[in-house]
Amino acid sequence: MRLRRPLRMLKRASAALTAAPTGQAPDVRQAQRAAEHLARLVRIPTVTPPPGPLSKSDAALFAAYREELEALYPRVFAAAEVETTGRAGLLLRVPGQFAERPVLLMAHQDVVPVPVDWAAEGWEHPPFDGVIAGGRVHGRGTLDDKGAMVVALEALESLLTDGWSPLRDLYLFFGGDEESHGAAAVEAVRLLEERGVEPWMVLDEGGAVATQAFPTLRRPMAVIGASEKGMMTLRLAVESLGGHASTPPRQSAPGILAHALVAIEDKPFPTAVHDVTIEMLEGVAPHVARPMRALLKRAGRRRSLLGRVVPRLGPELAAMVRTTAAITQLEGSPAQNVLATRATAVINVRVAVGSTCDEAVAHLRAAIDDPRVDLEILEASEPSPVSPTGDDARWRALGAAVSASYPDAVTVPYIMLAASDARHVARISPAVYRFSPLAMNKAQREAIHGPNESVEISALGAGVTFYRALLTGDALGPSDPAAS
Ligand SMILES: [Zn+2]
Repeated sequence: MRLRRPLRMLKRASAALTAAPTGQAPDVRQAQRAAEHLARLVRIPTVTPPPGPLSKSDAALFAAYREELEALYPRVFAAAEVETTGRAGLLLRVPGQFAERPVLLMAHQDVVPVPVDWAAEGWEHPPFDGVIAGGRVHGRGTLDDKGAMVVALEALESLLTDGWSPLRDLYLFFGGDEESHGAAAVEAVRLLEERGVEPWMVLDEGGAVATQAFPTLRRPMAVIGASEKGMMTLRLAVESLGGHASTPPRQSAPGILAHALVAIEDKPFPTAVHDVTIEMLEGVAPHVARPMRALLKRAGRRRSLLGRVVPRLGPELAAMVRTTAAITQLEGSPAQNVLATRATAVINVRVAVGSTCDEAVAHLRAAIDDPRVDLEILEASEPSPVSPTGDDARWRALGAAVSASYPDAVTVPYIMLAASDARHVARISPAVYRFSPLAMNKAQREAIHGPNESVEISALGAGVTFYRALLTGDALGPSDPAAS
């Protein structure tokens, strides 16, 4: 039993690797090399540093990480101008023949922490050992986001080795604190803006080549984020007189607050199916089971019906068609026998693309409908602009690179639910996409920020093929030098 499972996993992994035909398909050596390099980077635990100046040990970690990158990708670092932004961000420019229409590829070096007792959380392999087993690389950061960084760098390194050089300036940016607001990305964007650099296309993390992502869809779905939801943090507060717990008033501060919270959950935000979501649904339509196919094929003309149906297909799809509000923190009295003079709750709001932070606040005020509940905005960022899809050259370039690396995948745009460094770049670029060319099943997607994060070696191979295809494709490559 104990032996059979690893054996079976090994067999499956080698089958997956060797099943790839020659030619366009991912090359086994390319995948192995990427896996070994990723494992080495996972072993440097670049956990997102706390705010403020870097501690000595954090500075040493990020320095070690950079040294490892330079050792693994000597040609990239020899060809590039490299500068540090913020505390640990790395901005690289690989000069092309033209400065016009530069391309910016982004990823982040930092990872979310693991609990001290990671074994109790259920990790099968130590999170920072970079174990390669069962056809996978295991560890924190393998999917989010060191895996994506590695495949981009592998592709570029191998192209430079082949004697290739980019036609247009190629920028690479590797954030150092993406998991906590991305100050390094903000700084990099400021630098680019100052220099008048307007990336023609930006590609950052976000979507993936997702399997088991859509009901009845058997093919992998390459979901590319064309926009991302806005984010707002609000604090609700109720003040009252307080006093001794033996003589409570009829309505306490926590009681009034609780009413407000229930009212918020009882009044979900209205649904609105955005054009990007319509394009996604129409894109998967030919590949889903019959009853759904008919509905999705005409998604554009069935918006109100979809607005009612989609939220019932699970929280992930529900979040795609409306603003959401999550109650995350609660605070009342500091002592068990003292009345609270102030009760507070923190609400994390994700604002739908097509709506605004103001609209979200207005909806919440109307739902609460109680002047005793004070509402304070702690942080707000609007939804991102929508990047072009459909016939746009950049969108087609992404689709072609997906076809080269994952021939059976269906490429569709979507609205990203989480926030990424990409939101900072929208200001200077008209086309920002969010996508890691890595195959991920449902369990893998759930392992991001959780236990047992791992990436398949074959997915790394396909990821390298994706970036090679993207960088040398028609839109970015040499066959289209004069277009602008
Ligand atoms: Zn990430």
